[in-house]
Amino acid sequence: MKTVIIGGVAGGASAATRLRRLDEAHEIVVLERSGYVSFANCGLPYYIGGTIAERRNLLLQTPASLNARFGLDVRVNSEVTAIDPGARTVTVRDRVADRTYTESYDHLILSPGASPIVPPIPGVERALTLRTIEDTDRIKKAVDSLLAAVDSSEEAVGGQALDAVVVGGGFIGLEMAESLRDRSMDVTVVELADQVMAPLDPEMAALVEAELRRHGVEVALGVQVVEIKDDTVLLSDGRELDADLVIMSIGVRPDVSLARAAGLELGPRGGIRVDPQMRTSDDRIYAVGDAVDKSDATTGEPTLVPLANSANRQGRLVADVIAGRATRFGGVLGTAIVKVFDLTVAATGVSEKRLAAAGRDYRAVHTHPGSHAGYYPGAERISIKLLFDPSTARILGAQAVGGSGTDKRIDVLATAISGGIRADELADLELAYAPPFGSAKDPVNQIGYVVDNIINGTTRTIGWDQIDTTDRYVVDVRTAGEFRRGHIEGAVNLPVDDLRARHGEIPRDRSGHPVPVALYCQVGQRGHTAARLLTQLGYDVVNLDGGWLTYSQATAS
Ligand code: FAD
Repeated sequence: MKTVIIGGVAGGASAATRLRRLDEAHEIVVLERSGYVSFANCGLPYYIGGTIAERRNLLLQTPASLNARFGLDVRVNSEVTAIDPGARTVTVRDRVADRTYTESYDHLILSPGASPIVPPIPGVERALTLRTIEDTDRIKKAVDSLLAAVDSSEEAVGGQALDAVVVGGGFIGLEMAESLRDRSMDVTVVELADQVMAPLDPEMAALVEAELRRHGVEVALGVQVVEIKDDTVLLSDGRELDADLVIMSIGVRPDVSLARAAGLELGPRGGIRVDPQMRTSDDRIYAVGDAVDKSDATTGEPTLVPLANSANRQGRLVADVIAGRATRFGGVLGTAIVKVFDLTVAATGVSEKRLAAAGRDYRAVHTHPGSHAGYYPGAERISIKLLFDPSTARILGAQAVGGSGTDKRIDVLATAISGGIRADELADLELAYAPPFGSAKDPVNQIGYVVDNIINGTTRTIGWDQIDTTDRYVVDVRTAGEFRRGHIEGAVNLPVDDLRARHGEIPRDRSGHPVPVALYCQVGQRGHTAARLLTQLGYDVVNLDGGWLTYSQATAS
């Protein structure tokens, strides 16, 4: 049996090595267009920024090392230009020897990845994209030579920093913004949407935007680049930004050119259509990774999730299928994480934006716990948002933005979604605890308590976008000092510790009944205690979900 694999990085390399581990007798040929295989594409921005000092650390394997350990026939600089499904052959162009040949297969695996989207705007040739080692070398060289030019002629540039424009505020765009800032460039991120980091909801993305600005990155939202000139970029609102360097990172689209030309079916999202065994419409051809349509585990809808985890999982799985094992690929949650300066930004499942657009019933909960017990030094805030179905308590999605431990919490929540753990059951998870790492009531448990209280009617909450001083008498139950530092306009300060004695100050209507009340505190916890007190005293009370922190984040701009 002979399997040919197109693409030798995440999905392709995983498939090749797994297949070898399962079948020593299999002939395995990996054809890779670029000059490198199995390189660390996720590490590329950090090499440009200098965090990864050595280029060789990005090169995890070579054709020789893969041959020595796995007996793979790996050919770099080898581009597949056509597939003939009838003859079961591929046409390969050896870019170094400048010759073309055909290679036969019994099974063919496509893992060609995705291509950066480059909009057809004037001057776009000057913009650089980041996908391969070659792209990395190009960007690194451009940055190095710009900086060298500044060093050698400080007078000529007036000692000013160089300017970079990063087009696109997604994962790669923000990693590049940070990396270029690390290289002392003045960076502006230009984003068409009205927020950065599309998988997040706006009030969570606001934290990321604030972090970028805190580190000197300018953020231009709701605009697009319409022209790239010699030293500037022109924006759709008429602004012209200095731009010694332009990075284009507005997203990727699945690389389906070979599959389309070979007559393979495409899915509704434009990726290659595959079944749960990664089989395409031709039963000898499989496809994995960024190039395929995946199934959203939460909604069941087709989706494109260009992430390394699913590419690697699918690569491993397709080898199992070819080796004759019964297995199937489930859906993807889109669990993702990125470092933005001192913040960790992570998400899994579906956002509120998507749930609202789909008209689904959901509830949102926000919390702002510390990463570990407050009395142990170094605790950092984590803002967590959980979305769940109010009728079943099924967890639909989660987002977390904060300091250390953010990654752990989003991974626990992603695991909970995969395992079918209900949102209220998070309260009962037994999680590791010692003061340097967490709290006896872990942030994940705490979010479960909030959901449990909502579901069993112990508390009624209201969202940051629903609080209205004309509807309800709004009471800020924080201390007078906290109130002075910022509060919801029209709110009255009645600290929680005084409430038992002073609740009579809450006005009554003409028939003598207390008016409806909305309470809030800093994060929702004191508000909950106050709400329980007033409820038991006969008041109609709601507590502001996520408290002042969520409200002020969401309404900051
Ligand atoms: P790839 O790994 O891109 O491999 C496809 C390979 O196929 C390419 O090397 C290409 O040269 C080759 N190829 C294409 N066409 C042909 C052809 N006709 N003939 C021969 N070879 C061909 N994901 C995360 O989950 N976390 C991260 O932090 C993260 N960071 C990233 C940072 C950057 C800068 C980039 C670019 C991506 C990042 N990703 C990250 C995404 C992740 O790298 C991809 O999801 C993953 O690599 C996809 O695997 P793949 O096998 O589908 O495609």
